[in-house]
Amino acid sequence: MNKKGILVVVSGFSGAGKGCLMKALLSSYDCYALSVSATTRDPREGEINGREYFFVTEERFREMIEQEALYEYAEYQNHFYGTPRSYVDDRLNEGKDVILEIDVQGAETIKKRFPDTVLIFITPPSAKELERRLVERGSETPDKIRGRLLRAVEEAKYMPFYDYILINDDLEECTKELHAIIQSEHTKSARDRDFIIEISDELRKITNTKGEDAL
Ligand code: 5GP
Repeated sequence: MNKKGILVVVSGFSGAGKGCLMKALLSSYDCYALSVSATTRDPREGEINGREYFFVTEERFREMIEQEALYEYAEYQNHFYGTPRSYVDDRLNEGKDVILEIDVQGAETIKKRFPDTVLIFITPPSAKELERRLVERGSETPDKIRGRLLRAVEEAKYMPFYDYILINDDLEECTKELHAIIQSEHTKSARDRDFIIEISDELRKITNTKGEDAL
C-alpha cells in the first residue's frame, strides 16, 4: 500500500519568490502536488483559472465555507483565499507530499488541525531586496506595494512559529534545500511508529525474547 504523503505549508512575504520556487520544485521532482487554492481576487496577467488559483465570486466562496469544502481560509487585502479539502486528501492518499502555499493565518490553522504539518517560511535575504522585487514585478501601484510591505511587517511576527526559515537568494539552491528539508521529514521517527513496532516485534521473534529481556 502507498504510504501517505506529508502535508507541507509554504508561506512567505509576497515577493519572496514562492511562485517561482514552487514551479521549480514541481518541475524538478515528481513526488509533490501543489494545492490549488480558491480566491476571490482577480487573476493577474498570465494566471489561468484552475492552475494558479480557482478564481471564484465571493458568493461561491461563501458557499464553499458553508459546505465545509475548505480546510482553512483567510482574508488578505480585502479578498478571500482558501484551501479546498478534497484535492489535498486525494493527493496525500496517493502518497504525494502536498504543498499548501498559504499565508501565516492559514498556516496556523492547518498546524492546529494537523500537528504533523511541516511549516516552511520563505524570505528574500533582506527587506531591501523584498522591496526591490515587489517594484520590479511591476504589476501593482506604489500604494499596493506599500500595503504588501506593511503586511510583511505583520507576517514577520509569525516567523518564529515556522519549523524552517528558507532564504530564497539563488533559486536553484533554494529548490534543492526545500526538497532536502521535506524528504528528511519522511525519516523522522515520529512519522513511522508502525515500523518501529514491527521491527521490534520481529527482533523479539528472531531472538526468542520478550521486551523485558532487552538491555
Ligand atoms: P497572492 O494574491 O499574491 O497570490 O497571494 C496573497 C497571499 O495569499 C499569499 O501570502 C498567499 O500565500 C496567500 N494564499 C494563497 N492561497 C491561500 C489559501 O488557500 N489560504 C490562505 N490562508 N492563504 C492563501
